[in-house]
Amino acid sequence: MAVIINDTCITCDACLQNCPVEAIVDDGNNPTGNPRYYVQPEKCVECVGIFDDPQCAAICPSIGCITWDMPFTKEFDAHFLNAEIYKLGSKNGIARSPAYKEKKFREDIPLTKRGIGEKVQEEPQEGEVG
Ligand code: SF4
Ligand code: SF4
Repeated sequence: MAVIINDTCITCDACLQNCPVEAIVDDGNNPTGNPRYYVQPEKCVECVGIFDDPQCAAICPSIGCITWDMPFTKEFDAHFLNAEIYKLGSKNGIARSPAYKEKKFREDIPLTKRGIGEKVQEEPQEGEVG
């Protein structure tokens, strides 16, 4: 991964339209059954090599809705195999977990900021325009 969408999602569709790798599905197609949009961690590349920052969070009107998750690397295979949170796609019966294929991630975001609800997009500072 990745980034993850929490229950403050207002299902506005902006992130889905903005993702360059089509990693996001809408609430009707969320494989976890939760009534919100869902980032498929096995597809998300944190916009590395495409944009300077995650485009889903940049456009999301619900600040704090999209937070940093763990890197989609073998080290975190068990994390992403947690079926209560993720429903990974599969190929030939094998889950597309990090052990199957790792994805790019932002190495400048430390592990201490991941998996704890750290916002990808910060709230505008007081007095900041736009
Ligand atoms: S971080 Fe980038 S690649 Fe990942 S879901 Fe968001 S827009 Fe898509
Ligand atoms: S942009 Fe934010 S609020 Fe809108 S659907 Fe995506 S995660 Fe939900």
